[in-house]
Amino acid sequence: MDATQGQSALVEAAKMQPTTSLPQSLNASFLTNIMGDNPYFQAGFGLMGLGVGLTALRQGAMLASTVLRRRMLVELEINNKDRSYEWFLAWMAHQAQHASASSSKLPWKNRWWLASHQLSVETMYEQRKNGSSSVLFKLVAGPGTHWFKYRGAWMQVKRERETRAMQMMSGVPWETITLTTLSRDRLLFPRLLSDARDLAMKGQEGKLVIHTAWGIEWRPFGQPRRKRPLHSVVLDEGVADTIHRDLTSFLERRQWYADRGIPYRRGYLLYGPPGSGKTSFIQALAGTLAYDICLLNLSERGLTDDKLNHLLSNVPDRSFVLIEDVDAAFNKRVKTGEDGYQSAVTFSGFLNVLDGVASGEERIIFMTTNHIEKLDPALIRPGRVDLAVLIDDASPAQARNLFTQFYGGDDARQAAGVPDDELKGLGDMLEHKVAAEAKTGRRVSMAALQGLFIRAGPKEAIDRCTELFVTRRTP
Ligand code: ADP
Repeated sequence: MDATQGQSALVEAAKMQPTTSLPQSLNASFLTNIMGDNPYFQAGFGLMGLGVGLTALRQGAMLASTVLRRRMLVELEINNKDRSYEWFLAWMAHQAQHASASSSKLPWKNRWWLASHQLSVETMYEQRKNGSSSVLFKLVAGPGTHWFKYRGAWMQVKRERETRAMQMMSGVPWETITLTTLSRDRLLFPRLLSDARDLAMKGQEGKLVIHTAWGIEWRPFGQPRRKRPLHSVVLDEGVADTIHRDLTSFLERRQWYADRGIPYRRGYLLYGPPGSGKTSFIQALAGTLAYDICLLNLSERGLTDDKLNHLLSNVPDRSFVLIEDVDAAFNKRVKTGEDGYQSAVTFSGFLNVLDGVASGEERIIFMTTNHIEKLDPALIRPGRVDLAVLIDDASPAQARNLFTQFYGGDDARQAAGVPDDELKGLGDMLEHKVAAEAKTGRRVSMAALQGLFIRAGPKEAIDRCTELFVTRRTP
């Protein structure tokens, strides 16, 4: 008998039921008989029971897991708008580096990374003004699930990317990291986050951090660099002092600006031939004052007036904004239409951004150019550029100063085997040479001298330095 036959048997059975006045007990026992004797009823009820049982079990398990999650699991969510996000990823990557460095003797708790197949690469690219560029790759835990042990507790790391929703303006997808652990120690996450923060800060302590723009956000570029002492950038007499004093007096007058409702901003323009130390000086100055540098490239593809505005309104605390070769950003462009330039940042947009700063917010902008004559006078107006300083080719005194820095130290003197008085004489000769060449309109850049001093000993340097002079118009 198949299922259809079984059903018709049921229908038959139903038809056979009396419709009126049979006593209740008879009716019940009749049904019991049919069900009890009929194997199809038994099998059906059996299956039904099994189904109900399984559903109950599943729901029970779900309930238990929810209760377990609620009671025993601790979860922490970090999204990529938060600073801890980068710190945490870097911390994980750091653990991984340690792990792979000593993989053979690796304690199990550090092996999570080796077992992880989902890695992401973060590529950082910096194009320098001399055309060279640096690329850095950082491998971090990719989207997916990872496990690791921290202070004896297993943790699950789930990195998820929301591909449909993008962050406004930056076009960066939303991301979250969810850390889950079974530990009841609620201090575990704060500890983990402070470890990640400490690691990030330790790397930066006493160092210069350079940020570059990522979409509309600033992110540290590469490893923090060693600070350069200010005196190692040898400028002409009084130049370094003028800039340093101006800046420190600006920094001391925040309240003065606030009381008068004046936007708290200062713009500097360092101009002069290439290789005279403009960028090096700004970096050394930032290091001395414990400031970071936000390197802004106005010609960057995809940078628009809006994005520029957002970037300049969200500069990290204690940072200089550095715009190198500011003339190149607008002069190279082919004018395309009535509104301006081919690139997405317009000159008028740039001026607006320079002007638009909420009072109270500190903004320090340094611009450099090798061609001040190419700059639109609108840019050099006070308020946009408050102090413009010429950083020139080597003066006789500067050349001598750099010479002494290179060869005058005890170690250098010993290595060169040149007695003090002879070294002094060589310094005098260099000074005279630079002065004499300048009279014929020939100059030498500090970068060229530095290059020679690195390669040669003091005597050789004096003999060969004549090759380095070039005819240059004084700006
Ligand atoms: P600029 O920004 O004027 O083009 P940089 O600061 O990029 O010049 O200098 C290029 C190189 O030359 C750097 O390695 C720097 O150390 C060296 N240099 C240039 N000018 C000086 C200077 N005045 N004192 C010491 N080093 C200098």
